[in-house]
Amino acid sequence: MTSSTVGEEFEADLVTRYGSPLYVYDLDRLRAAHRDLREALPEPSRIYYSLKANPHPGLVGALREAGARAEITSRGELASALEAGCPAGELLYSGPGKTPGELDEAVLAGVRSFSVESFGDLERIGAAANARGAVADCALRINAAGAPGSAGLRMTGSASQFGFDLDVLLDAPEQLLVAGTRIVGLHFFPLTNATDEEGLCAELVQSIRTAAELRETLGIELRLVDLGGGFAAPYAVPGDRPRYPGLRASVSKALDESLPGWRDGAPVVAFESGRYLVGDSGRLLCTVTDIKESRGTSYAVLDSGINHLGGLAGLGRLLPMSAKPLREQPLDGVVATGAPGPEGAERVTLAGPLCTPADVLGRAVPLPGLSPGTVLAFPNVGAYGLTASLLGFLGHPAPAEVVVDGGEVVSVTRLALQRHQVTGPGPRATQHTAVKELT
Ligand SMILES: *Cc1c(COP(=O)(O)O)cnc(C)c1O
Repeated sequence: MTSSTVGEEFEADLVTRYGSPLYVYDLDRLRAAHRDLREALPEPSRIYYSLKANPHPGLVGALREAGARAEITSRGELASALEAGCPAGELLYSGPGKTPGELDEAVLAGVRSFSVESFGDLERIGAAANARGAVADCALRINAAGAPGSAGLRMTGSASQFGFDLDVLLDAPEQLLVAGTRIVGLHFFPLTNATDEEGLCAELVQSIRTAAELRETLGIELRLVDLGGGFAAPYAVPGDRPRYPGLRASVSKALDESLPGWRDGAPVVAFESGRYLVGDSGRLLCTVTDIKESRGTSYAVLDSGINHLGGLAGLGRLLPMSAKPLREQPLDGVVATGAPGPEGAERVTLAGPLCTPADVLGRAVPLPGLSPGTVLAFPNVGAYGLTASLLGFLGHPAPAEVVVDGGEVVSVTRLALQRHQVTGPGPRATQHTAVKELT
């Protein structure tokens, strides 16, 4: 079971010490998630942690120690992975639109494994590697989205900016011969947040069959098959990660049939995960700053909104979120008035501090009795929390990020949003600055 040494009293004390709002990440929960995923997956296999979900170096470092490798897609994620101690040679660089400049930086840093999204991407990866006298190991990303259960290589998925359509690849295999590269892998990522184990397994099995056929047809020396993932996790609502008790057996069987040799690492089988690994390790603590009533609706205004959480949702999609009161405490040094919400207000709209009607974290949330100074906790926001949000919008400071390990605070940082004079390449650090205790 997922265990945590972080209690709600402890969390509320963090707000007293470091200010509101703040994110708290519990490394014990992160390691439990990694263990659960490890046990669900075929053995041997490799787990890549997708930094997209949360690039905090403290989390990346803990996952590295647990045995995961890092999958990165940008200069910032490269910097985070290196800061977390990931060896550059073990990173997988993926994503569309990699520029010559960032590729050069990656190759210079020692990155040698790339996921390839198109023939143009392959050319640019090759040019960057060649220029440094290196050879890039490339995994072709295959667009199989929307083609579940399809049989035969000619059947492709829907249109996508990600990966190669199978027919495009098969029509011009000679375009895969690019100096500075060698094609040694295939990369699939057809779905995400899959709670249905049967559907997920069917997708993985389909990818395995496609990989075996492509190896044959294209004559690839297949060293890596990255099957992606899609492992689900609750987001900003209470609940547990799903389990996949049947996945290991069914996927191992498909691997035995289609890619014998995988048990000896030929090819290495890999999976990717973001949300499953870090989602339930993180909580956002924030404080009610105002309570008001408008035309029959009760509002609780918070000191945190779509600038810190659910920014993707702020761009047109409202997710159901729920928070839980932890304690009442003075706000910014001012003792709370204690004025409770309107009589009988059982449900409130949780609004953030931004001057936009889009800044709503939840509507009709059953949270009676809130008052200014109430500390609220949003659960399960370790993935796609802070860095997936509209941090720059309206200029509120970033929340502190507190990493807890074994019940001890091991780091407290704050992402800095500062305007710099541009005199050369952008800053490479992840720009985490230390946070001082308030008292
Ligand atoms: C987003 C993404 C991931 C991580 O997705 P999760 O749902 O967080 O596990 C992994 N691989 C690729 C290619 C992605 O785009």
